[in-house]
Amino acid sequence: MFNRNTKKKIRFSDYLSEEVARDYINQDKPYAEQIDRAAKLIREADYVLIGAGAGMSTAAGAEYGGKFFEENFAEFQKIYGKGPYMQDMYSAGFYPFPDQESKWGYWSHQALLAGADLDVTPLHKTLLDALEGKKLFLLSTNADHQFEKAGLSAGQIFQTQGSYHLIQCKRGCHNKTYDAVELFRRMEQARQNGKIPSAFVPRCPVCGGDMAMNLRVDNCFVEDENWHAAEERFSRFLSACVNGKTVLLELGVGFNTPTIIRFPFEKLTRQHENVSLVRLSRSKAMVPASLGDRAVGINADMAQSITDLASKLRETEADAP
Ligand SMILES: [Zn+2]
Repeated sequence: MFNRNTKKKIRFSDYLSEEVARDYINQDKPYAEQIDRAAKLIREADYVLIGAGAGMSTAAGAEYGGKFFEENFAEFQKIYGKGPYMQDMYSAGFYPFPDQESKWGYWSHQALLAGADLDVTPLHKTLLDALEGKKLFLLSTNADHQFEKAGLSAGQIFQTQGSYHLIQCKRGCHNKTYDAVELFRRMEQARQNGKIPSAFVPRCPVCGGDMAMNLRVDNCFVEDENWHAAEERFSRFLSACVNGKTVLLELGVGFNTPTIIRFPFEKLTRQHENVSLVRLSRSKAMVPASLGDRAVGINADMAQSITDLASKLRETEADAP
């Protein structure tokens, strides 16, 4: 069939980038002026592609270590010792649990606290309200579903690194994930001394082997049907937005997995004159100098900068004729 659409489709794999900017600068304009510039870019845009990293959830109030961990994971600290692992939810996930009963005893607890039962959405809602009327899409490396809970439609979300709601075959023997939230709740109820009853240990329905969280920690990560459908919607949004006025709104993305949001956002801005970059981060908001006025990098407490940006957008809306 003759394809009349001459505009090239941008696939997720084309979008990704490993190119490190050589000309990073921390912009030195006053904070209020930076918020004004960001608001102006967003006001003039038809499309906003949000790229959210761990810093967004943290800014919204999600906690992973410190007092939160001490209070919620004391049971596990008592069993395994604090050591190098039982310090926060990232490190503890790497603990070499002695058996599947112990592994799922820990993981069901973390999965609920960081996923299904986490509800830190007021900041997400503030942002989404301020972006009302824009064509929106969210690319997120977070597994915590907070934008969805804040009201963004699942069809506008591509959560690339997995989900705290899902489990998969540990070695990825087949391309399916399984919603385990209810299973996690049963495990949470039944857990004793850090362990769940053996009868609750999930087994791969295909190979009979161990199961694991559907989180991208190794190359056995399963990209299931839903993942690919989200990838396709992202690809369509991207292919459309580069032909319109677009702001890439990057929230709390550091340098942990920069090839998914940070570097690609810089590449897109470099390649398309109608695309600009607004980068909010507590301390990693440096932007390539070569992007000039089309990049705004704001190093600040993000709960504050998102709130200020949102009220600036509401203000300019009210001022509009
Ligand atoms: Zn399997």
